Amino acid sequence: MKIHVLGSAAGGGFPQWNCNCSNCYGIRSGKINASRRTQSSIAVSVDNEKWVLLNASPDIRTQFEQFPCIQPKKGLRDTGVAAVILVDSQIDHSSGLLTLREGCPIDVYSTEVVYQDLSTGFPILSMLEHWNGGMRWHQIELDTQPFEIEGVDRLRFTPVVLCGKAPPYSPHRHDPHPGDNIGLYIEDLELGTSLFYAPGLGVLEQHLDKYFTDSDCVLVDGTFWREDEMIDAGVGTVLAHEMGHLPQSGDSGMITYLRRFQKTRKILIHINNTNPILVENSPQRDILRDESIEVAYDGMEISLETQHSHLSRAV
Ligand SMILES: [Zn+2]
Ligand SMILES: [Zn+2]
Repeated sequence: MKIHVLGSAAGGGFPQWNCNCSNCYGIRSGKINASRRTQSSIAVSVDNEKWVLLNASPDIRTQFEQFPCIQPKKGLRDTGVAAVILVDSQIDHSSGLLTLREGCPIDVYSTEVVYQDLSTGFPILSMLEHWNGGMRWHQIELDTQPFEIEGVDRLRFTPVVLCGKAPPYSPHRHDPHPGDNIGLYIEDLELGTSLFYAPGLGVLEQHLDKYFTDSDCVLVDGTFWREDEMIDAGVGTVLAHEMGHLPQSGDSGMITYLRRFQKTRKILIHINNTNPILVENSPQRDILRDESIEVAYDGMEISLETQHSHLSRAV
């Protein structure tokens, strides 16, 4: 299986258009050693032709321009996008569907509650019905049974329910439902390799250990370094966990947790523009290097060819 990181930043991207925190100002002024990043989404394929998108970010048009494989040029109008799977109904993960309107119908997979959000509070799926009937929605059941996507051979997807919070526009914002936020365990049935993708992972529940152990590679929540990062940077008032994200640092943070999975390739994605790990020569980045934890960047290619095939890698 091949994974192409279309975007590696959290909501807002990096730099965020209206932000002058030290990272956003730093990259605009060329004062820090960092790379620009678009909002998070990955594409997965086994044949380099049909790609399954995991999330559709508002930056999708730019991301496709940077990734020629997604346009196979087999017809006057065509695409390499075989389907889109949404892990939640957040703007930065779903609003790219609007940009795909010319391609309707495209197969879109989500849980029932995400479908409800995207048909009510943020009704993009209803709006898109005006384009050739809209997206072809498929429900992801929450019974941890794997599902496959028609026309996409070899890949099997297992939804993993995560503790999460629906977005502000969700009708059940203050009443969390299972399926508001999922991770995906993705298996290549021919090669036996697997990936766990969870860009929003706020609580480390025990049922997750298995996916971290079994996966050859995990691409997980890299949003914040510190629990109070937004407050400390002076750009927000809420804590990481209140936004459904687990910070990297601290005794109960992501780094400590990831240390348990020595055989798994570990990559952080969905990195907020306030996070010091964006600066390549920061002390926080050194800590990640020592822990063999990588930081995703736009255009990163991950190839999972043999099980636990990560032993030689550049961090
Ligand atoms: Zn996000
Ligand atoms: Zn910023």
